[in-house]
Amino acid sequence: MSKGILVILSGFSGSGKGTLMKRLLEKYDNYALSVSATTRSPRPGERDGVDYFYKTEEEFSRMIRNDEFLEYACYVNHSYGTPAAYVDEQLNLGKDVILEIEIQGALKVKKKRPDTVLIFVTPPSAEELERRLTGRGTETQEVIQQRMARAVEEAESMEHYDYILVNDTVEECVDQLHLLIQSQHLQTSHQRDFIREIRGELREREEHRK
Ligand code: 5GP
Repeated sequence: MSKGILVILSGFSGSGKGTLMKRLLEKYDNYALSVSATTRSPRPGERDGVDYFYKTEEEFSRMIRNDEFLEYACYVNHSYGTPAAYVDEQLNLGKDVILEIEIQGALKVKKKRPDTVLIFVTPPSAEELERRLTGRGTETQEVIQQRMARAVEEAESMEHYDYILVNDTVEECVDQLHLLIQSQHLQTSHQRDFIREIRGELREREEHRK
């Protein structure tokens, strides 16, 4: 069985990447979602081990010292990190593993593992982003403005990503995301076992013919 593909999904707050991932896992098999460790407190409704592994500063530091992270980064005063063990276990099982992380972490992983696929999710326009943030109805006008300002900064890093995925309607976008990831399996770098196999078969047949 060939190894899975490591995929990083980033995007503006309000790009709909959370919904997108949820639908991807519901609709298609063979994906595993990495659960990160964080030092921030759980929000209402979030569960330990499901949304994040919630850690104290000391626990997080210990994980760093024990080299347990594939990457870790600081985001708005809190630490976030991807435990490497689960990612590698799932990749070795042939699963395509998705990390939903921010840009600094994404670039660190790409450096360590260049065959990681970096995907940036965005709404079709700035107007639509603001509309979605407002439409959630859970955020104050001030928070919406902060997120819009952050989006301006984050947009500066879009070129570092391999693909830009426009999330217009969720169902269409999910299918596109699935196709995009599956097409990565066809890359030569992910076909080494197949190449070796067919080369062997061809040589063997040639030997018999002689
Ligand atoms: P939130 O606190 O809103 O759940 O996440 C804040 C930011 O941290 C989001 O952009 C999210 O993608 C990112 N994030 C979550 N987990 C990780 C991680 O393990 N590593 C990095 N580098 N970023 C993460």
